[in-house]
Amino acid sequence: MSAKVWLVGAGPGDPELLTLKAVKALGQAEIVMIDDLVNPAVLEHCPGARVVPVGKRGGCRSTPQAFIHRLMLRYARQGKCVVRLKGGDPCIFGRGSEEADWLSEHGIEVELVNGITAGLAGATQCGIPLTLRGVARGVTLVTAHTQDDSTLNWPALAQSGTTLVVYMGVAKLADIRDGLLAGGMRADMPVAMIENASLPQQRDCRSSLAAMQHDALTFQLKSPAILVIGEVAAEPQALQLAISA
Ligand code: SAH
Repeated sequence: MSAKVWLVGAGPGDPELLTLKAVKALGQAEIVMIDDLVNPAVLEHCPGARVVPVGKRGGCRSTPQAFIHRLMLRYARQGKCVVRLKGGDPCIFGRGSEEADWLSEHGIEVELVNGITAGLAGATQCGIPLTLRGVARGVTLVTAHTQDDSTLNWPALAQSGTTLVVYMGVAKLADIRDGLLAGGMRADMPVAMIENASLPQQRDCRSSLAAMQHDALTFQLKSPAILVIGEVAAEPQALQLAISA
């Protein structure tokens, strides 16, 4: 049998935000290797598969990436239909391309299946348009968590004129605030902090750049959460008024 691994995005949490292609891949899977940000409800699409949890949440016991690579390879070489299921989109802060490259180098065919990434879903679920004519000309997806502790180019981000969507930022709110303020962003820039986007327990805390760390503490913001920083994070109604004025 030809060895193949499907690297599939499970979307942000709401099982109905799964793509039809993901459902199809799950339907033929024999092995499903699943990250812990994936909503287990999506497993209803692969009732016959063996589910192997390989999650690695910050602070918890983690599965080393090399182990995940070897496990995918082993199952694929056994001729099994393997689905590697990741939260959101496999290639947005998901190491999907690393896994794809590694498998290809080892002679395994790979198919990538998009998922809806948490940043896009969270904003939409809260009524925030990430781009808006005359207000936000683009979107920048950025992680606050770097492997080598290198710093982001804060002035470039602050002055980009795009909406910033920050992943993995909950523990770094003070750094993000300080960096963007030093980079020239205004202190009252609207911010939305969206926890558990697209799930029934979704919460949305609105704040400003200067106040976000304090407000997140009061709100008891927890991971997983994304930050939306930019004019569009103002109340949708207020924005509509501003545009029509
Ligand atoms: N590949 C994923 C991102 C993985 S990085 C995607 O495309 O969505 C993990 C980070 O994603 C979390 O720290 C958080 O910032 C964000 N995230 C994932 N799921 C989320 C959710 N349901 N709500 C809010 N943020 C989420």
